Amino acid sequence: MIRVLILGGTGDAAELAAKVATMQGVEVITSLAGRTREPSVPLGELRVGGFGGVDGLASYLRVMEIDLLIDATHPFATQISFNAADAATKVGVRRLMLIRPSWEKGSSDRWIEVDSVKAAATTLQNQAQRVFLTVGRQELAVFAHLEEIWFLMRMIDLPTDDALMPPGMLLCDRGPFTLNNEREILIHYNIDTIVSKNSGGDATKPKIIAAQELGVKVVMVNRPAIPPGEQVTNVDGALAWLIRNS
Ligand code: NAP
Repeated sequence: MIRVLILGGTGDAAELAAKVATMQGVEVITSLAGRTREPSVPLGELRVGGFGGVDGLASYLRVMEIDLLIDATHPFATQISFNAADAATKVGVRRLMLIRPSWEKGSSDRWIEVDSVKAAATTLQNQAQRVFLTVGRQELAVFAHLEEIWFLMRMIDLPTDDALMPPGMLLCDRGPFTLNNEREILIHYNIDTIVSKNSGGDATKPKIIAAQELGVKVVMVNRPAIPPGEQVTNVDGALAWLIRNS
């Protein structure tokens, strides 16, 4: 019996867990950070919450006798990815990163590319009035000082009552989103700029397509660096790696 730990929190991680759970001779555990109040529960076993840094994760890998580690976390969740790299090396567990390709800028896209969410906030000053902010609940405070701009802020869970945030409206929703839905939002709220992380994948891409159609600007936050190591770009690639290494 091979035991696989999937570091999750993405649609790809859930899809991978569902497929691995049906494989003979493989036991799968998915780990979630516990940020979302009602996460979609993946097939197979589930554990929730931080491990306690590199040492905590290394000790989990040892105690649970994990044979293979698949880091299928979001491309912007880099702390856990670097921790996973260090912990896997420490314990001698083989590790794979499942990381979907970035979205590529097309010739008719009006993107302003920046290297951090903070830089996205700076970029908005003096050039945006009505912004569709899709960077998640944890990053609202970065925009709180932009009092001249109106924000439509979409996230999975409502922020806490004491959370710092800019003026505007909250919209709780979870992808995948349709092109019609995204088009309607941009038109209805008269949005001139979207702020998005370059998450890649199809679930949240329709807002980028709608922006291109309607000539809406996108402040696109480029991906941070990830640790070196074996990588695949889709669930099938991860399954093939798993079969090769089982
Ligand atoms: P992060 O900054 O990379 O990680 C911060 C800490 O959270 C880690 O050191 C670890 O705590 C814990 N952690 C993160 N992912 C974990 C997992 N899958 N299982 C157990 N512990 C985990 O992560 P983040 O950006 O806050 O993202 C948290 C989760 O949300 C990730 O699982 C990610 O896939 C998902 N997510 C993130 C984004 C995003 O934009 N960042 C978007 C969509 C989904 P310990 O050090 O205590 O182990």
